[in-house]
Amino acid sequence: MADAKKRSLLIVLSGPSGVGKDTLRNIFAERYDNIFRSVSVTTRKKGPAETEGKDYYFLTNEEFDKKLADNEILEWDTYNSNRYGTLWSTVRMYVEQGRNVVFALTIPGALAIKRAYPEDTVSVFILPPSMEELEKRLKGRGREDEEIIRKRLDIAIEKELSHAGEFDYRIINDDFDKAIDDLYEIVRKEKQIRGEDV
Ligand code: 5GP
Repeated sequence: MADAKKRSLLIVLSGPSGVGKDTLRNIFAERYDNIFRSVSVTTRKKGPAETEGKDYYFLTNEEFDKKLADNEILEWDTYNSNRYGTLWSTVRMYVEQGRNVVFALTIPGALAIKRAYPEDTVSVFILPPSMEELEKRLKGRGREDEEIIRKRLDIAIEKELSHAGEFDYRIINDDFDKAIDDLYEIVRKEKQIRGEDV
């Protein structure tokens, strides 16, 4: 049972697509027993390597609309014509349990979580070591065709990188293990400020 005195820390990661924020989120939550990962809802089609309920809850547009109408969605955003959202029930469950949660979200999504839980959220912007590296990673994923990759890169350059200053912390994802360590250090420090261990 969770210690009733423990208070959740909501760790929101954002940054350009392809920067590795989803992988960082996954590995971070896997590595530390007391860090849980949030599973979002999306109208995007399930990829071949993805699992329902683990990577996302995959919804139809109608199902997504219904959840919106029922106020079940804390924040949501459109990305490449698909909708992605965080359920209130997911966040409330972890907050009630006093568990730490890590999210990987678009920038407006990350800022929305911060607005909803200002005291309990730490926002971290993940930066690529360079634009060339970001392009290489996006292409290396092999999931999308060239046109979509270019579109994602345009989004990254124009909209995403300029928001880094609005976040509490920034991490450069050059060496992956170092990025995980940097993230842990941020979480440790933020928990310490709140008088708790991780
Ligand atoms: P992908 O299609 O690559 O899985 O995700 C596309 C983008 O949506 C990524 O930047 C991902 O982090 C973001 N994303 C995933 N779930 C959510 C969510 O619940 N809310 C918001 N705002 N963004 C999300």
